[in-house]
Amino acid sequence: MRGIDAGPAPVHSAPMSIALEEADRDTWLAARRGLRLRCPACGKGKLLAGYLRPAAACSECGEPTGEIRADDAPAWATILLVGHIASPLFFLFATQDPTASLMAFFLIAAVVLVLTFALLPRMKGLFVGLIWATRAGETTQDADQPTHYEPGT
Ligand SMILES: [Zn+2]
Repeated sequence: MRGIDAGPAPVHSAPMSIALEEADRDTWLAARRGLRLRCPACGKGKLLAGYLRPAAACSECGEPTGEIRADDAPAWATILLVGHIASPLFFLFATQDPTASLMAFFLIAAVVLVLTFALLPRMKGLFVGLIWATRAGETTQDADQPTHYEPGT
């Protein structure tokens, strides 16, 4: 039984660096920053160096966001969204007139192209932000696995 004279209770605290490393990351804030194509950590630096090419690291805070691989998720999400937006348009503009149908086809095709090119980088930003926030890309490294991912290789 511990008495008053037993001294201070033992403190179980991790070193500061580990405590900061293990700090929770705000998932929705990182997702919003990713959608705006900004660094999920600071919200200031650019996430992408090209249309889809990731920047190696944040220009403002140095977070190595270029190591995060979203793989096919941005394309999947873009197809899902654009498909659900464009599909009803075919029914909305359905007509027996072949000229009007052709006009509707080109109009819908233009909508699909514009939406796809606008959404694809933002979906990439969204998934990079989500992966960064949830640390889903961080795994224990095997000896035969590369430890660093070079964008564009
Ligand atoms: Zn940053």
